[in-house]
Amino acid sequence: MWLTEEQSAILALIDQIAARYPRRYWLQKARAGEFPEELWQALAQAGILGLAIPEQYGGSGLGLQEMALVQERLAEHGIPLLLLVVGPGLSLMILAKHASESMKAQVLPAASRGERVFCFGITEAAAGSNTWRIATTAERQGREWVITGTKHFISGADRADDLLVVARTRPYAADSREGLSLFVVNLKSPGVRLTWEPMHLTAAEHQFQVTLDHVRVPDEALVGEEGAGARYLFDGLNPERINVAALAVGLGRHLLNRAVSYAKERVVFDAPIGARQGIQHPLAEAKIHVELAAAMNRYAAMAYDQQEDAGAWANMAKVGAVDAALEAADIAIQVHGGNAFSEAYDLLSLWELVRLFKTAPVARELALNYVGEHVLGLPKAL
Ligand SMILES: Cc1cc2nc3c(=O)[nH]c(=O)nc-3n(C[C@H](O)[C@H](O)[C@H](O)COP(=O)(O)OP(=O)(O)OC[C@H]3O[C@@H](n4cnc5c(N)ncnc54)[C@H](O)[C@@H]3O)c2cc1C
Repeated sequence: MWLTEEQSAILALIDQIAARYPRRYWLQKARAGEFPEELWQALAQAGILGLAIPEQYGGSGLGLQEMALVQERLAEHGIPLLLLVVGPGLSLMILAKHASESMKAQVLPAASRGERVFCFGITEAAAGSNTWRIATTAERQGREWVITGTKHFISGADRADDLLVVARTRPYAADSREGLSLFVVNLKSPGVRLTWEPMHLTAAEHQFQVTLDHVRVPDEALVGEEGAGARYLFDGLNPERINVAALAVGLGRHLLNRAVSYAKERVVFDAPIGARQGIQHPLAEAKIHVELAAAMNRYAAMAYDQQEDAGAWANMAKVGAVDAALEAADIAIQVHGGNAFSEAYDLLSLWELVRLFKTAPVARELALNYVGEHVLGLPKAL
């Protein structure tokens, strides 16, 4: 319909990959605590990891719209990948826009081929959602930077090669938005330590505390200008919100497809349960909300690709998509009756992931604060 030929071809490619590596495969890997490496390599070989990387650096030169469609379709097949969000959907977006020419030439072609995988580290236990108060520091010593601090909940750090990390290069000042800087840190560097943080989540990635103990990186590891990281961050955090909204839309569709199939087949009181309005209407409502969110997320990705400020659309789409996916999850669970709680039906694992997105990567309340202040013009929320 509104898809370009190229976008339709990308979706067909994702369908083919998903047929080779269906949810059954993803789930078996997730339950075994293993990364779905074959799926990741298939995406790399199909050029999906470099979709939004400029052609001169080995990518396809497409944009966030295509990346979001990929996330949406993978999730619709029930095979969401957080590493695809924090790597190509966030870290590489920032590097493609703000890294020096030499860093781009060094990093992006390898990342497009899947040879350098990125995770992203902003969250710290004490600062939480308040990124301005992070305690990780980077101090210049000659032609090196020395980075010290601890990030937590870092998705896929065990599978990644590099961490794009946010650190303070100047002390916190309440009236300044300068002083945060971004660095590319090889996770094999001396002083980097990973500690697994077991989560109640069925996902392809594990989360880690990443401790950086006086990790030395060369001057060239600094992304863009020192102290200007906050300005660069939103060229990654808005895409992250849009990618997560796309995952939520896809998971919402996946859940509704499953619920509809079940509602057609399950006969109780001599009729398929899907024939009852009490079941049909909530399914229809959830479908409407998921597709509304998909349309809004499309606007958000278009705004980003057209170099507009995508913050308003990205936050609204993220909240709308996650709310819709949660609604879809709830009715899918209800439709399945007691079977929803049977491990064999694999439904609650989907709810876990959708529910995660209400809290991470940005809490619903913080996204609403953005909409209240920047879209509606209300005073800054307390
Ligand atoms: C599975 C998982 C994967 C993750 N992956 C990564 C990753 O790869 N990289 C990374 O850097 N981080 C990652 N995170 C961290 C994630 O981004 C944070 O957990 C999230 O941003 C919320 O921060 P917090 O946990 O510190 O919650 P807090 O900041 O402590 O907030 C707790 C709750 O308080 C409320 N709240 C906070 N501030 C306000 C406010 N101003 N107004 C109203 N309510 C408020 C919200 O309801 C919020 O949920 C991950 C987290 C999880 C659980």
